[in-house]
Amino acid sequence: MKHLRVAIFGAGPAGIYAGNILAGSYENVTIDLFDSLPAPYGLIRYGVAPDHPRIKGIVNSLHEMLDSGKIRFFGNVEFGRDLTLEDMQRHYHAVIFATGAIKDATLNIPGVDLQGSFGAADFVSWYDGHPDVPRTWPLTAENVAILGNGNVALDVARVLTKQANDMLTTDIPVNVYEELKDSRVTDVHVFGRRGPADIKFTPIELRELGEVADVEIVLSPEDFPEGWFNEDAEGVTNQHRVMARVLQSWLERESKPAKRRLHLHFWHQPKEILGEGGKVSGIRFERKGENRDYPVEAVYRAIGYWGSELPNVPYDDSKGVIRNIDGRVVDEKENQISGLYATGWIKRGPVGLI
Ligand code: NAP
Repeated sequence: MKHLRVAIFGAGPAGIYAGNILAGSYENVTIDLFDSLPAPYGLIRYGVAPDHPRIKGIVNSLHEMLDSGKIRFFGNVEFGRDLTLEDMQRHYHAVIFATGAIKDATLNIPGVDLQGSFGAADFVSWYDGHPDVPRTWPLTAENVAILGNGNVALDVARVLTKQANDMLTTDIPVNVYEELKDSRVTDVHVFGRRGPADIKFTPIELRELGEVADVEIVLSPEDFPEGWFNEDAEGVTNQHRVMARVLQSWLERESKPAKRRLHLHFWHQPKEILGEGGKVSGIRFERKGENRDYPVEAVYRAIGYWGSELPNVPYDDSKGVIRNIDGRVVDEKENQISGLYATGWIKRGPVGLI
């Protein structure tokens, strides 16, 4: 077989795994891996919370793959600016896009642009020291709302409520530690739009929340009516069962005074972020047909990530992914574009663990 030249755009887990699989599958292959950032590892470096060293440790496996000598890494290369699609098609037999999903999904409710309304993805980038975001973050709010019942909401809730000193053993950036240390937060409220049986958390991450020092978890009994969890319902997995037990144990445990409180609310559909003088002053939800307002000074939207469009690459703006069928890039009429592929979150959307 002739010598195959492949370019991969995006040096996060998906791009590196793709390169490694290709390197192991073909004798005659040259793989060039590009990233717009100076260093590789994408989501692991800039998306995993500093106090999750076990997940961050996956960098070691990815490092070994890059170190195998079969993949060349080029950082600081912006697709569409430094290299165009045309350039890539001229020099490579195949181009794989693995650019991930790093933006926040949009939430279309009034008040979303008020000062104090933040995308969780931006906050995550800040606490992970992403080079493209400001070094400072306003942590003046005492009462905070987090929207969403996925693991990103848990990460944000944990980082906001944890004592900064308890993160000194991690690779938390110094500027982040300094600001978290002075945070005024006392109450963090996490809101799910569905019920406690429909959370998208994973068991280890949920349980971990209950182990954060000096934080009391507060649940509302109204969210847990008799028989709230049906073990035998369709689609219920072992993960759901474990998480239901965790929530039930929190519901039954005695309240103890703590420096900070973490409230979990369910059945809350966000309607409006309320403001005063251009700043967040509260948030309104609809809960089972009635409006509920909560006074908060900051809102974090953890309702999912969103993939960005790349110049001249077909993009599905209803899903935030590159148009593709099973990873083969297609045009609007679903005709395959020869030599173009997508993998990871820009292929299937931001779901699944690393
Ligand atoms: P996610 O798991 O998809 O959760 C998004 C949450 O936002 C869901 O609860 C969803 O509710 C809610 N939501 C969506 N649109 C909403 C709206 N308009 N109003 C109110 N709520 C809305 O997304 P994620 O938390 O961003 O996580 C992305 C992926 O990364 C997941 O696979 C996650 O497990 C993974 N991750 C893992 C870790 C870890 O530590 N292991 C950490 C971070 C992320 P519905 O369920 O009702 O749609």
